[in-house]
Amino acid sequence: MVRAEGKRVAIIGAGPGGLSAALGLSRVGHDVTVFERWPEVKPVGAGIALWPPPLKALEILGIDIGSLGSPAVPVFTRPDGRVIGAYPTKVDKTIDTPLWLGAMRSALYEELHQALPPGLIQSGKRCVGVSQDDSGATAHFEDGTAFEADLIIGADGLHSVVRKYLEGDRPIRDNHLTVWLGHTFESFRDRSMARMSLDPRGYQCGYTPMEYHGQKGWHWWVMERRDSRSSMPEPEAIKERVMAIADGVAYPVPEMIRSTPLEHFVPWVIRDRDALPSWVKGRIAVMGDAAHATNPYAGYGAGMAIVDGFYLACTLAGVDLSNLAELSPVLAKYEADRKPETDAVVAFAYMMGQLMHTTNPVKRVVRDLLLDRTPFLRKQLAKQYGDALTGAFAMVAELGKRMPAAPGTKPASTESTTGKNS
Ligand SMILES: Cc1cc2nc3c(=O)[nH]c(=O)nc-3n(C[C@H](O)[C@H](O)[C@H](O)COP(=O)(O)OP(=O)(O)OC[C@H]3O[C@@H](n4cnc5c(N)ncnc54)[C@H](O)[C@@H]3O)c2cc1C
Repeated sequence: MVRAEGKRVAIIGAGPGGLSAALGLSRVGHDVTVFERWPEVKPVGAGIALWPPPLKALEILGIDIGSLGSPAVPVFTRPDGRVIGAYPTKVDKTIDTPLWLGAMRSALYEELHQALPPGLIQSGKRCVGVSQDDSGATAHFEDGTAFEADLIIGADGLHSVVRKYLEGDRPIRDNHLTVWLGHTFESFRDRSMARMSLDPRGYQCGYTPMEYHGQKGWHWWVMERRDSRSSMPEPEAIKERVMAIADGVAYPVPEMIRSTPLEHFVPWVIRDRDALPSWVKGRIAVMGDAAHATNPYAGYGAGMAIVDGFYLACTLAGVDLSNLAELSPVLAKYEADRKPETDAVVAFAYMMGQLMHTTNPVKRVVRDLLLDRTPFLRKQLAKQYGDALTGAFAMVAELGKRMPAAPGTKPASTESTTGKNS
């Protein structure tokens, strides 16, 4: 097959970031190939929350976000159900997607796969390194093959080999946290809210309504401090442990966990990365977790990856990728526009994780005073999720005007038809 001159993009990794970038870049006319290490892409059977900027990006890319999951209003509570922090209402007024959408990770992957042109993904291709010279960039694979491109995008997650090319072999940051996740299709009262309970004992129990293939359900999680080197318990022991933590937390958390079948329990050890000095070198760039892996206190890692991919697709529309003088300023602006926001989210999420699960008794007292007696949490939410979300949403909506309409949809500049928050 003849490859299009000046349009060849290799994306390493078929996660939410790589798939969104592939969808957008192919829509604006680039010749995209995605390389995924696993023979078959199987997302972990867990839930995910999506915020307005990625929802808007997905909508512009032609994904039906209405059928992806369930909208809700996210609030922080104490274990007895008392609300201690909610998201700023102004976000509700300016944004025309749900403020929060609870979905199964599988649903997101399925929708992105369906929207992609066929034959774009090469699976079973583990990238072991990247290189570049004056003529272009090359991805090298474990099976001894190589692939030449005008641009290589590393969307290969926390253990990224493309990031390693940019910054050398720096260690991943252990958060000393484990999150136990699960989902159930039992029915419980009040699907209007997603609740995150911050427990003074040092746990976080949360849940969100979600919907999968038309079936209404719930995704829940319990996070605790735990030595990441200790062995992972069997599902029965995980359920027992999680039930013990949730005991005393307000309805419906204990009931939800009790109703969850053992095969729907998923353990996840939390690791992230501190800020990467530079995301771009010549024809090679990183995005998503490869650029800014974050812990789940942000609830935004996949969301940021989707926005990165969307940003790259919109700004690389019409660019001759073979011409470094044309490509470099676009990649430099990508880094300048995306890095400050994503670095701030990673730092905030890390700080929250360490504060909420600290074993230091003095820090615990200060933390609980801050949460119960001051506007600390409300102010943080306003800053991180109010202004930042609103700004990122406006950027996505504006950039989306450059994206050709998905087959069978209206152009992005026309009014959204998606349901708003109730
Ligand atoms: C417990 C938990 C809960 C979370 N909840 C949320 C949430 O509610 N909302 C949210 O937005 N985010 C959430 N996140 C974060 C989110 O999961 C990640 O940020 C997101 O998956 C990153 O997407 P990505 O495409 O950048 O990377 P990944 O999803 O990690 O995808 C990387 C892909 O690259 C492939 N790959 C890796 N190395 C290679 C290689 N060498 N060669 C070829 N392919 C390779 C991998 O197999 C994978 O398919 C959560 C994370 C955790 C741990």
